[in-house]
Amino acid sequence: MCEEKEEESSSKVQTPVGVHKRPSDINAHLFNPTGVRMLFSLMTPNESSFATVQEVPKYVNQATPYFFGLILLEIILDLLKTNGRRIKINDFITSLSAGMMSRLPQLMMRSLELSVYIYVWNNFRLLELPWDSAWTWWLTFLGVDMGYYWFHRFAHELNILWAAHQVHHSSEYYNLSTALRQSVTQQFSSWAFYLPLALMVPPSVFAVHVQFNLLYQFWIHTELVKDLGPLEWILNTPSHHRVHHGRNPYCIDKNYAGILIIWDRMFGTFAPESDKVVYGLTHPIGTFEIWTVEFLYYPYLWQRFWEAEGISNKLSVILKGPGWTPGKPRLGDIADIPQITGKERPHNPAWSPAMQVYVVVHFLLLLDVYNHLLMDQMILSEMTVLLLTAHVLLSLTSLGFLIDQRANAAEMEMLRCVFIMALQRFGYVKPLVPLLAFPIEVFVLISVVYWSLQCVNQRTNRMKKQN
Ligand SMILES: [Zn+2]
Ligand SMILES: [Zn+2]
Repeated sequence: MCEEKEEESSSKVQTPVGVHKRPSDINAHLFNPTGVRMLFSLMTPNESSFATVQEVPKYVNQATPYFFGLILLEIILDLLKTNGRRIKINDFITSLSAGMMSRLPQLMMRSLELSVYIYVWNNFRLLELPWDSAWTWWLTFLGVDMGYYWFHRFAHELNILWAAHQVHHSSEYYNLSTALRQSVTQQFSSWAFYLPLALMVPPSVFAVHVQFNLLYQFWIHTELVKDLGPLEWILNTPSHHRVHHGRNPYCIDKNYAGILIIWDRMFGTFAPESDKVVYGLTHPIGTFEIWTVEFLYYPYLWQRFWEAEGISNKLSVILKGPGWTPGKPRLGDIADIPQITGKERPHNPAWSPAMQVYVVVHFLLLLDVYNHLLMDQMILSEMTVLLLTAHVLLSLTSLGFLIDQRANAAEMEMLRCVFIMALQRFGYVKPLVPLLAFPIEVFVLISVVYWSLQCVNQRTNRMKKQN
């Protein structure tokens, strides 16, 4: 049933007939030491200069195993050092869910950042820097990093852009998973800040650096690395970025850097880490439901827009800082934000260990489906892509409902498990390890039975209450 379009594959792998194998099973880059250097932006012009965009590796995809390797290491160290105080399953899965959701638009279109860049380069370039020159490489490194600084600053200082970016700041914890908590809508605005480079830098060089810039920002989301000595002067480090994620008054609107902290020092937005940082938004969202996490700010902005009196105030709601109110400075008054008492506790309602295990196991199964969808998209039929995307969205929604302990979580989860069972029956879902196919089917079947019983139970209880 699960048709595969062989002719569109760019990296065809000859597999004997009858052998169940997914192309992404053969992960040539899995133990490549370059992967580790990629994460720290320690690549050289020689190994990362390409003539065309098509030749540029998908560094972000290649780095995925290293993301998970480092995340696992951080979890182990956290368990040993603080008994798991810094990483909580509900927050952790929410962050990963946001990261997964934010990359789904890529199934339908090439990154907007790159598409618009190529259009400007093709039509408006003023000069052509050579793609194979180390000078071009370093200039682009600096240009992309400064472009990121300004994008990020605007994302905090313009309410309409903050509506997207606040997703990244909504975790009240600070660990590597926080790096993956990304907004679905942010990619629709970030492209504009790199366009000056398109007047002279070939798209292939830009496509390399925009990925390196993103990758570098992964490892700085940790409390495990304290101080890096003289490197703190030049580089954006875990310490500097902790300040950026803080809601203490001294942290607000500070440290926007991507790789180099020099931009903050130059443009007056630098603050060193001092008091203990309390993480998250000044008004915590208190939910793990993924659609709320991703989109809750837009209705709020819409409401403020209509409530504001006069066109000038309406425009200010959209174009000034999130803390602005009539009569206040453009970025609001720091005295208006809730004071830090040191007694703040992250939103972490109790839930049963059995349910935690259940959600983790289903989430791991989902990660496998998601990886298959993104890595093998080019060789999957349109129907398979559509069904697997529905699987991912339904699963993120339902697991979010379970984590958030919503009243209708049981119905949603029963529906989801029935849908997965159907996909398994018709061969649309194939696990990475074929041997696990049967045990997974049994697990999903047990899940369907369990949630069906839960639904019946809840309905009976409701009827009893009504009578
Ligand atoms: Zn930010
Ligand atoms: Zn961050």
